[in-house]
Amino acid sequence: MSDQRTELSRLGEFGLIAHLTKNFESKLDSTVKGVGDDAAVIYHSETESTLISTDLLLEGVHFNLMYMPLKHLGYKAVAVNVSDICAMNGVAEQITVSIAVSNRFPVEALEELYEGIKLACEHYKIDLVGGDTTSSLSGLMISITAVGKAKTSEITYRTGAKEHDLLVVTGDLGGAYMGLQLLEREKEVFKTNPSIQPDLDGHDYIIQRQLKPEARKDIIGFLKELEVVPTSMIDISDGLASEIFHICKASNLGCHVYDEKIPIDAQTSLAAIDFNLDPGTCALNGGEDYELLFTIAQSDFDKIKGNPNMTVIGHMTDANDGIYYIDKNGSAIELSAQGWNHFNSDQE
Ligand code: ADP
Ligand code: MG
Repeated sequence: MSDQRTELSRLGEFGLIAHLTKNFESKLDSTVKGVGDDAAVIYHSETESTLISTDLLLEGVHFNLMYMPLKHLGYKAVAVNVSDICAMNGVAEQITVSIAVSNRFPVEALEELYEGIKLACEHYKIDLVGGDTTSSLSGLMISITAVGKAKTSEITYRTGAKEHDLLVVTGDLGGAYMGLQLLEREKEVFKTNPSIQPDLDGHDYIIQRQLKPEARKDIIGFLKELEVVPTSMIDISDGLASEIFHICKASNLGCHVYDEKIPIDAQTSLAAIDFNLDPGTCALNGGEDYELLFTIAQSDFDKIKGNPNMTVIGHMTDANDGIYYIDKNGSAIELSAQGWNHFNSDQE
């Protein structure tokens, strides 16, 4: 280490990962894909590959136990890893769970956490096969690693999109972000006056989107039934704009995405308006929806047309055309890389 001091915020999360891993070149034939996608791909047999993905969740950074019940946290911690395996067009099969925990937590609290983990294991049909447990000086930390498998020929990398492909998103967007805004607001109200009960009536959908997100394992099944293999895929953890950027950058393409096509639930829109926010902006930049974003060849359009789970929101263009968001008035706005920057502010 030299005397030089570079602030983490100068690199940002993705810059830091690229910087730290730049001197690691995968040398083994069995390492099919290392750093740089939703999951790593390891050789298993001629036709099948093993997928591995890991995520770290820290109290105070990724979750707040004031409004996040431990059972939900356990469920969500599993779901976000399953989502990364889904994003490779694979099926998660095993997880390991590592926790660091301070003596602030009684056994009963950890039992709750594991109840959520168990529910998710049952729901996604995966086995808990190990982990590690250690003490922490403050707070709770959970790290989950998911192992899955996929047919090698059907793995969807971020790099595979082609010019003229259609850009498709599953479900609807912005709900998890609005759920978080609401929970944060009610937390502040509660802090000033603990006798006031949180006002969450009519907001069940967006609260659920934040507290109990689901990995879209169902979509992986639908795609198989429809005989559609996306040309590229990513899950939406940081926000639509950020994930579009990842696909465009990895596939060396540009993109046109249309504001009016982006699916937003009515509850999300109402909450956004209530907060003086533009619903489209929330859908574009809000994170944690864990929907899938993928590209398909135009020739596959008929197979997904009319499917209520999938919406075409744009198409891929030449890299020189740039990445554009076409607003309701038809004006093209160049998208800048957004998504949460963990090192810049108090955002997630
Ligand atoms: P996701 O949002 O899908 O979880 P990340 O942005 O966290 O993905 O990671 C992007 C890529 O960088 C992945 O391939 C991941 O395994 C890798 N990665 C992230 N952090 C590190 C690290 N500290 N060391 C090595 N690889 C990392
Ligand atoms: Mg991911």
